[in-house]
Amino acid sequence: MHYQFIKNLLLLKDILVENVYHFEDYCEVHISLPVKPHKCSRCGCITKKVHDYRKQKIKDIPVLNKPLILVYRKRRYKCENCQKNFYETVDFVGRYQRMTLRLIKTIVDRLRTNYSMHSIAKDFGVSPCTVTRIFDCLSYKLTKLPEVFSIDEFKGTTDKGKYHCILVDPIKSIVLDVLDSRSLEFLLNYFRKFPDRHKVKYVVIDMWSPYKLAVQQAFPQAQIVIDRFHYVRNCNWAIDKVRKRVQQNLSYEKAKFLKYSKRLLLSRPHNLNHDGKIRLANLLLTDENIRLAYILKEKFMDFVKSSSSSEAEVKLSQWLELVKQYKIKEFSYLARTILNWKQEILNSFDVPYNNGCIEGFNNKIKVIKRNAFGFRNFSRFRTRILHCCS
Ligand SMILES: [Zn+2]
Repeated sequence: MHYQFIKNLLLLKDILVENVYHFEDYCEVHISLPVKPHKCSRCGCITKKVHDYRKQKIKDIPVLNKPLILVYRKRRYKCENCQKNFYETVDFVGRYQRMTLRLIKTIVDRLRTNYSMHSIAKDFGVSPCTVTRIFDCLSYKLTKLPEVFSIDEFKGTTDKGKYHCILVDPIKSIVLDVLDSRSLEFLLNYFRKFPDRHKVKYVVIDMWSPYKLAVQQAFPQAQIVIDRFHYVRNCNWAIDKVRKRVQQNLSYEKAKFLKYSKRLLLSRPHNLNHDGKIRLANLLLTDENIRLAYILKEKFMDFVKSSSSSEAEVKLSQWLELVKQYKIKEFSYLARTILNWKQEILNSFDVPYNNGCIEGFNNKIKVIKRNAFGFRNFSRFRTRILHCCS
């Protein structure tokens, strides 16, 4: 009777549990299948005549923290018509496999997490080579691009170079593909492989010219949208550069005050508490350049908060006028960048798409990379990212 419970515990259909053995570092469950009519693979006749048995050891999902080995008494039938001997059919293990299909499936699922192949191998009582072999059977190929997608890069350092590209569907929040390189030539070759390129409506990018050129050539009808995070970041960089420049010419005390006020300069005044507001007021009195840079940053943030491209366009031209007047070189440089990308930036005010989810994927990629102690093989790195993030 208790074998019935073990059978229920194992969740394998139709098996007969014959015995259970507990060893120090693994468990064995001896199983077989009931005799039932089988069709001869050669002549098609039905037979129930047993020829002989062979024992086969099959690894299964661990139980009670120990590897589980199914010792399967595999039956051979004999066809009474053509005398052919053949094995019974079984659905929990594939042909020539020495592990159950559900163990393979569980390992495939575990590979979606950040765990390294070594730790997965250890958890399931298999060798790292087995996990790698299972992993190498996975393959991801993007055949269709969605109407909206984003491009961004991340640092990879594999056999294919330092920077890799990541294509993301910002609506579904999934990684679509991972590319070897972010060069124009590579991107064009890659994008031209998609037959329905004309269906792409928006491409969200950062301010990296090869992306723009590639999108313009491969998707002439699509609108390019600059991710908001990127131009806000450029503005933050500008004010921080002003701070560093001013700091160098100040007395020790004032320079120290400025040095520790980086966050204060970046935050918006309405988010500050009473103390913060007083500190900010003192900070702005330390130097005229800081005061003007702060105004420019605030005006820029007002422009960023615009609710439409037409409103943004008006605010942007006012901001550009102010930059001209104030003559802060870091902001003049920022203004040139913004003007170079003006239309693509304005586009971002009319659509809700951004690269927000990419940040999360980049963090996940970092963890995958660290847990695997780096990936030398780009193709495996790519498959792992797609397996975890798509
Ligand atoms: Zn036969």
